[in-house]
Amino acid sequence: MEIPVVRNVLEANDRIALNLKETFAKHNILVLNLISSPGSGKTSLLEKTLRDLKNEFCMAVIEGDLQTDNDARRVAATGAQAVQINTDGGCHLDANMVQKALKSFNLEEIDILFVENVGNLVCPVEFDCGEDAKIALLSAAEGDDKPEKYPRLFQLAQVMIVNKIDLLDYVDFSVENAKKHAKALNNDLQVFELSCRTEAGLEPWYAWLRSELGKKRV
Ligand code: MG
Ligand code: ZN
Repeated sequence: MEIPVVRNVLEANDRIALNLKETFAKHNILVLNLISSPGSGKTSLLEKTLRDLKNEFCMAVIEGDLQTDNDARRVAATGAQAVQINTDGGCHLDANMVQKALKSFNLEEIDILFVENVGNLVCPVEFDCGEDAKIALLSAAEGDDKPEKYPRLFQLAQVMIVNKIDLLDYVDFSVENAKKHAKALNNDLQVFELSCRTEAGLEPWYAWLRSELGKKRV
């Protein structure tokens, strides 16, 4: 009888996520759940975004990691508010963890809340954290077959970011291949190709953030 147990866990999570959505809506906060394998550059993308947009928006980050607060420190160094959740071996964040982390923030101030999930392409997809959108990140240092192998993430994500495009000359990653398979799963998927190292391609991502926040405020 394992299946009903799993379903109950997800139902309990969804109830909390619904509460979170109400809270976020009340404060007009755009919430984005960043999901990728370890090492795709979630924290690097956040560092760039938080630095480059800090005069436009008040942004906060919930960092999910198995151990350490290294990433929360990197993010806090940009001046953004950051809370670290150590899952102690747990492979995803859930709505309950996010709800607890929210106590550290003044929600009145925040425009955009980034949830950097635990590096894992599987179960973070199933646990709604009250976000407006899931952002799937992959990097040129990985295989371009991630969308084929982990279809659920790309079906449910609103955005796919291909990071580390500065490495494309040195690796066999085909952006076209990754895009083709991802779009076959989800035709509405927005794709951004960028490099946090060279800063190429960041502007369209920022434009998307401005536009999504604009929609929240209407
Ligand atoms: Mg990280
Ligand atoms: Zn998990």
